[in-house]
Amino acid sequence: MANRITQDYRANGGWDSLAECRPMYPGDQRMVYLFFGSERENARQKEQRERLAKAVCRRCVVIETCLEKALARKEMFGVWGGMGEDELQALARRKQRPIGGAAAKSA
Ligand code: SF4
Repeated sequence: MANRITQDYRANGGWDSLAECRPMYPGDQRMVYLFFGSERENARQKEQRERLAKAVCRRCVVIETCLEKALARKEMFGVWGGMGEDELQALARRKQRPIGGAAAKSA
């Protein structure tokens, strides 16, 4: 798998060229909606949409890189690396916390 990824990176110029969520053709907005939703969706619709988007991520060969990049860019919206918005934000908060947490600071 690593060899295929390396070859594809060279051929296409980036990890995201292997993304399972790439549009099928230029102008195709279905993946954009699936991963980012709309302002009009309610909580139940968002949960269902994110579940479907995460299923796409589980088939994606660049899931780990995608999550790393999303955390580095501090992405706040959308599904990235198999995580929904709430999960991504919670993980980002955990990574920002100092080792040992608040107890270590006050000691
Ligand atoms: S992990 Fe998900 S969001 Fe990231 S590139 Fe793959 S399919 Fe797209």
